Amino acid sequence: MDSLQAARYPFLRGSAKYAEANHTDIESLISSPSYENARKRGLERVLGAISDHKVGDVSLLQEYDRLMEVLSYPYARMIVSCINDRFLTKRYALAEASRMNELLSNDHASEMIVAEDLEVRSTVDTEGMVRMHFSDYLRFSHVMKAVEWKLINTDLKNGFVRIEPDKFDRLLQNALQERIESELPLNVPDAFRKALKKDIDHVAVILSETKMKLSPTGGEGMNPDYLPPCIRAILASAQNGVNLPHSARFALVSYLNALGLTYEQIIALFSQSPDFDESKSSYQIKHITGEERGREGYTPPECATMKTNGICFDPDNLCSRVNHPLSYYRAKSDFAKRDEKEEKK
Ligand code: SF4
Repeated sequence: MDSLQAARYPFLRGSAKYAEANHTDIESLISSPSYENARKRGLERVLGAISDHKVGDVSLLQEYDRLMEVLSYPYARMIVSCINDRFLTKRYALAEASRMNELLSNDHASEMIVAEDLEVRSTVDTEGMVRMHFSDYLRFSHVMKAVEWKLINTDLKNGFVRIEPDKFDRLLQNALQERIESELPLNVPDAFRKALKKDIDHVAVILSETKMKLSPTGGEGMNPDYLPPCIRAILASAQNGVNLPHSARFALVSYLNALGLTYEQIIALFSQSPDFDESKSSYQIKHITGEERGREGYTPPECATMKTNGICFDPDNLCSRVNHPLSYYRAKSDFAKRDEKEEKK
């Protein structure tokens, strides 16, 4: 593998071999002054993923730049692994995968090397179109919502889907994202964690600020006035001891969790029900909030799903302008802040 390809696609097995051939090892990467730039770039990879959803460009003209770029990748993965936060891992995996997609769009010659490494069965035909095995196509296109991605709308022959290189790159992006998410967290030894502490702490602060900004409550705690009619109705039913269907219970708990309420705060709301059964509620809440699995909770359903499940209660005017109950909360909160500002004027 040539050094430029190794630097552009540092996740390839060939890139790791390139680093080995340059006599680098993980201990030196972590502590040697010679690899300071690789560590700096590794940190940049993670910070770029958090703040811009992307890994930015750097010059890869010199051999030295290319080696630093290859080494920055394992360094970034160690930082992400040490923090071990689902939001960060997903965001980082997406940023690395999007970068690969962007690079491949001007470098179709590398597509088959990347595909082989990601175990995506494919070939290029004489007209430059990609033929991809249909089962791989299904595996990596199922997250794509547009109808053009449906198997029925593709050119399928002898078990292979024929697609344009750019669309193929998009599916390779999904394949890489899936691979990175499945590989992380790595098992980082304590001694390495110690050495990485400054960068880990830096990322942890930026991550927490970003999560706060993205949180519908802005980290200010839940304001019941901003809740959408559906959640208000379900919450009132729960507190009045009405037996809720699973879909409603799921929507309520996942919603409250997404607003940042802790397990204790959610259970406190349920405990107001006259027939409150702590052990039953505790199991369900822990499962939905992810506490039981030591992970982040499930994402609350969007309005379309709420409607399908028959739990979109009393939609009001604002409801016609949102497609997710969390967007309703954000909009109400923004309106309230705007009114407050205007009152102060
Ligand atoms: S439209 Fe959406 S936010 Fe409004 S009540 Fe229905 S599910 Fe809730």
